[in-house]
Amino acid sequence: LQDPRIARISSAIRVIPDFPKPGIMFQDITTMLLDTKAFKDTIDLFVERYRDKNISVVAGVEARGFIFGPPIALAIGAKFVPMRKPNKLPGEVISEEYSLEYGTDKMEMHVGAVEAGERALVIDDLIATGGTLCAAVKLLERVGVNVVECACVIELLGLKGRERLGDRPLFVLVNAT
Ligand code: AMP
Repeated sequence: LQDPRIARISSAIRVIPDFPKPGIMFQDITTMLLDTKAFKDTIDLFVERYRDKNISVVAGVEARGFIFGPPIALAIGAKFVPMRKPNKLPGEVISEEYSLEYGTDKMEMHVGAVEAGERALVIDDLIATGGTLCAAVKLLERVGVNVVECACVIELLGLKGRERLGDRPLFVLVNAT
């Protein structure tokens, strides 16, 4: 049975067709942030799931992982680590290239932000093809971090993002097509 809070979260997310380009159904979580109950329920659902899992790192993917990651990190007593687009982090970084529909992109993490053996949650607003989350997971795993789970507010079904993550678990609140 689905948690009753999910329906409100789902209906607070606005879908904008053809943004940022024709054919894309953009899942806009900013309208959900305006609904104080839906926003709080979103954070609470993640906190309830992760509070007793010994997680010391919440890694948030730029940009909307920066909205959901920090309140979860504070509530479960973990640190927050930003996973950023290239050339944004000022210190020494490690980077991971990943493929997009056209071309490639890169994700970066500060060296020294995490230590081998730490347990991490990776969070973003949405998983589509899974390329973005996968790059974040790989950065953490390269330095010996154990990625306990990936979490998103929304999973776009039909793009096989979940498969791309292999056997790493993925937890989502809302499904969309
Ligand atoms: P992917 O790497 O294909 O899983 O894409 C996920 C990333 O792209 C996330 O950071 C999302 O915020 C963004 N994204 C991809 N598709 C959408 C969509 N339809 N609506 C909103 N954001 C999207």
